[in-house]
Amino acid sequence: MSFKINSQSFGPEEPKIIPLTLVVDERGCIGVAEAGAHIPFNPERFYFITAIPEGAERGGHAHKQLWQFLVAIRGSVTIELTDGRRSYSFHLTNFDRGLLVPPGWWRDMRNFRSDALLAVLASRPYEEEDYIRDLSEFLAWSASNAEVNSVPYLSLQRQVSVGQEGQGFGAAIRRASQEVLQSGYYIGGPDVAAFEEAFAEFSQTEKAIGVGNGLEALELALLAEGIGPGDEVIIPAHTFVATALAVVNVGARPTLVDVEADTGLIDCTRIEGAIGPATRAIIPVHLYGHPVDMDPILRLAEGRSLYVLEDAAQAHGATYHGRPCGSLGHAAAFSFYPTKNLGAMGDAGAVTTSDLVRAATVRKLANYGSATRYVHELVGRNSRLDPVQAAILSCKLLRLPAWNERRRVLAHLYLEGLAGIDGLVLPAIRSWAMPVWHVFAVRVKNGRREELARFLDQHQIGTNIHYPIPVHEQPCFATQDWIKGSFPNAEMLSREVLSLPLDPFHTDEEIRLVVRTVVGFFLRS
Ligand SMILES: *Cc1c(COP(=O)(O)O)cnc(C)c1O
Repeated sequence: MSFKINSQSFGPEEPKIIPLTLVVDERGCIGVAEAGAHIPFNPERFYFITAIPEGAERGGHAHKQLWQFLVAIRGSVTIELTDGRRSYSFHLTNFDRGLLVPPGWWRDMRNFRSDALLAVLASRPYEEEDYIRDLSEFLAWSASNAEVNSVPYLSLQRQVSVGQEGQGFGAAIRRASQEVLQSGYYIGGPDVAAFEEAFAEFSQTEKAIGVGNGLEALELALLAEGIGPGDEVIIPAHTFVATALAVVNVGARPTLVDVEADTGLIDCTRIEGAIGPATRAIIPVHLYGHPVDMDPILRLAEGRSLYVLEDAAQAHGATYHGRPCGSLGHAAAFSFYPTKNLGAMGDAGAVTTSDLVRAATVRKLANYGSATRYVHELVGRNSRLDPVQAAILSCKLLRLPAWNERRRVLAHLYLEGLAGIDGLVLPAIRSWAMPVWHVFAVRVKNGRREELARFLDQHQIGTNIHYPIPVHEQPCFATQDWIKGSFPNAEMLSREVLSLPLDPFHTDEEIRLVVRTVVGFFLRS
């Protein structure tokens, strides 16, 4: 029994572990792999790898057509495989099983035990043309071969597994996390301080204070200004609920202001009319990664001594007239929720400010109101940045400019590919803005949003809605005296916005498939 696989095939075959038949008796052990039964090719070549010096790595190539079956006869080895979208790591340790590697997988082999003996069966003789020895060349080849037929809205694990970037990053954060585990600092310590310093520099502020999450960053920044019961805080009517919750959680009252229809950002021309005697602060939200027009807000605030707190949770690296979000107001709150442009691998957040007194107050409030151990000057809380998350964030911060740039490239594929469609409104970009495309939200007119979302879902394209219920219609705020109908643009957006997949790790081909499918939807009808 034997069969030959089609040597031209390039398909979605996955690498897998295949058990061998072991025949054991008093004379010893024989391990058997039958072509046809165990391995799906007829071997035309056998070789082995051994005498690998300590720490040496092998692999670093892919085959276009060759299949392989690898068995660690002795010792052990780690084999990492990627096809540019999926990645696997196998640790071969025992001669009773082997690893089947189909064509089209890049492999790196490391952690050879010094006595390792790795046997390899290959489907074809040596042919130099079958090799790809350059990773970026392989990724380009793989992307052009692999037929894209589904696009996840977001696939966070690609950050640590896909392609050269993902592989490198995955290794870097494993190393960084490992170092924290060995450091003995499990609260605070050098990794937290290093990230805070790096993030302050990135944000062009004097200080960044790491805290537990974005909601608490907002709350602490409000508390540090003494905002609480009896105070009012102006926020946009279209935002993630956290902006409003932070105000309510410190005991103050949110005053909603409607947003601009084309950007979804707080409408600066309506802020002045919303300021009352109890107004103490304004929280502009750089929604979707597009900066708010801050100058008019700062001018309004200056005349009235209002506190301007940026909600920069979606705007890491976005700039307004060339200056970064987070440095524009009196203070800013960042979230490092995993899906954000700069995301931890858990909850995390930060407050940035250039006011040293305010920075010290935030830090105290976040640490039981204490700057000196067991001396509690303020009624604080516990909201601290975890050192493992800080180490991960430092790794990611180095890549953030490139990742934001990648988001811009993909956003422009959408802006060009979807221009001029009747019934579809693309996001506006203001002249002063360098957005970072946290979300690519289009508007679907004529009540067809759900229909388009369903159509994309049927074509295995993920979408999302940011956000389906405006703040003033949230059940948790039923006791506020907000009247349905008072924020028409926010209500319109909640009915029309649809977020298309956009992440640094989406391929151009994936985004083109989304474009084609959306265009197809509107052509159809
Ligand atoms: C994510 C987000 C927050 C809250 O951040 P968490 O870290 O989830 O608490 C606040 N505001 C906006 C605009 C956000 O997008």
